[in-house]
Amino acid sequence: MDLPSHFAFGLAIGFVFFGHQPEFALLVALGALLPDLDREYWFIPAKRYADEQYHRALFHNVIMIGLTFVVSPFLSLGVFLHVLQDSFTTVKDRGVEWFYPFTRLAKRGRFDADGNPQPTDPNEHVYFYQEDPLGLVEYADVDLQEPLNKPVPWRRVYGFALNSNLLDRGFLFGSFAVLLVWLFVPSSNWTFSNLQLLTNAAPSIYETWLVGLIGVGTLFLAGEIDRRDLTHSRLGMLKPVKVPILLLGLVIVGLWAVLYHASIASDIDSAVAQPLQVAAVIILIPLVAILLVKNKTKGGKQATI
Ligand SMILES: [Zn+2]
Repeated sequence: MDLPSHFAFGLAIGFVFFGHQPEFALLVALGALLPDLDREYWFIPAKRYADEQYHRALFHNVIMIGLTFVVSPFLSLGVFLHVLQDSFTTVKDRGVEWFYPFTRLAKRGRFDADGNPQPTDPNEHVYFYQEDPLGLVEYADVDLQEPLNKPVPWRRVYGFALNSNLLDRGFLFGSFAVLLVWLFVPSSNWTFSNLQLLTNAAPSIYETWLVGLIGVGTLFLAGEIDRRDLTHSRLGMLKPVKVPILLLGLVIVGLWAVLYHASIASDIDSAVAQPLQVAAVIILIPLVAILLVKNKTKGGKQATI
């Protein structure tokens, strides 16, 4: 989905559920922008980027949701909403690889996209059920096409909706409608309590958030300058200043982290104050996964995810 649809949905969910504390609601919207920074913005050569299929994988996954949770649960909720929305999109748009990088451990599918059984490899014990429908992958943007000459397992979640079409617009305008109702439809005693909440909030909340938003926006600008250079668009002409813009974006995001540091520090403190829970996440969950795979592949058996 496109950024306005992610942003509007993040704002709507943020304000409807956490509007009594506007700084939390705004963080949900900021988080909803972050995953798309996994496009080819970071000096990864375009060929490698397409071959490795990083977009909708690198920052669109459960690890990213976990890492942002340590900074702020609300930022993390925004990331989750973004990934959920992208899951509705088609093979052409590349869906979402929710469990990257673990999904890369299994290399093959048992059947091709037409249902023909594929030869198995005695050295591979864990398989996906099927392979990516390459016929549709061929319609993806050039920089998102996986190599068509080799089978790739179907490790992504795909949906029915084409990027930037009806469902995107539904999320965009639907979210704005929800926000307008939340803000401007008075309660039964004819007060605009939600609107008052926003106008009474300390201006510093909005200022800090705006710094974060400008920082993230600057990173997108730097990335798109580089990417559009390939398509000779006008943005590509700014290529000589790409690096300074990228650095500026990083500095502004750093400034946001400094302004927001008290809150980030308390989130990190509360995460590390629960050592057993952190241990459960870092040790027990991978351990359970390994034991499951070991059990399912006992005696050289082959298992399907
Ligand atoms: Zn995305």
